[in-house]
Amino acid sequence: MNRAIISDIHGNLEAFQAVLEDINLQKVDEIFCLGDVVGYGPNPCECVELVQKHCKVVLLGNHDQGVLFDPEGFNVVADKAIQWTREQLEQRDRRAKHSSNQLMDFLGELPRNYRDTPGNNLFVHGSARRPIDEYVFPEDRYNALKMQNIFELIDRYCFQGHTHIPGVFSTAPDFISPDVPLDAPKNISECRIALPDGKAMINVGSVGQPRDQDPRSCYVIVDDEQSVRFRRVPYPCEKTCEKIHAIDKLDNFLGDRLLQGR
Ligand code: ZN
Repeated sequence: MNRAIISDIHGNLEAFQAVLEDINLQKVDEIFCLGDVVGYGPNPCECVELVQKHCKVVLLGNHDQGVLFDPEGFNVVADKAIQWTREQLEQRDRRAKHSSNQLMDFLGELPRNYRDTPGNNLFVHGSARRPIDEYVFPEDRYNALKMQNIFELIDRYCFQGHTHIPGVFSTAPDFISPDVPLDAPKNISECRIALPDGKAMINVGSVGQPRDQDPRSCYVIVDDEQSVRFRRVPYPCEKTCEKIHAIDKLDNFLGDRLLQGR
């Protein structure tokens, strides 16, 4: 079973479309999405609709949750973006005249985690310990207790997102980042990373708001049991940035950061 695992689309339609096109060429049987379909970006409705259409499993992220309930723990910029996102989804639902609120109800029914059988792999947005909102950053490899506590909850591999920083954590604890070829930032590139024999956490990076200084969208393909392929896909981020600049309630910074991948 070949699987594409995406996360943190954040309402970025241009990025999501580019990734879906790339996935289409990769002989994939199914797509999993680890949450944060919305929040920050200018096209939340379109991204929810595409996720509904293409993804077999979709998990709840902290921004999706923020849209559903009163957002907690967000900074002012993120909070305003969440309020604006909620308005967009509710408006779209009202105009659609379905008996149900298709987009909001879909978000409201998303699970917090998913376990595949066989395989015993876990899928979450944040961490195995707090599926929706715990960050596991690369520097947490120096926090042995935190890593140990989280790894105790994992049988084999745990796929996660949330930090927008792709890579593989082993129980050492250690963190391996996918290499970025120096000449690559304009092209599609791929880095295959071997998985340890024991347990691992795999952060699949972000489709719609990469924060590892590489503006290209990031996602993962799993096509064997011993490795994962990190794919980087360029998309017209200038276009997304312009859309964000044109929306008052979305801070300009949310567009600018896309151009730099931060
Ligand atoms: Zn996110």
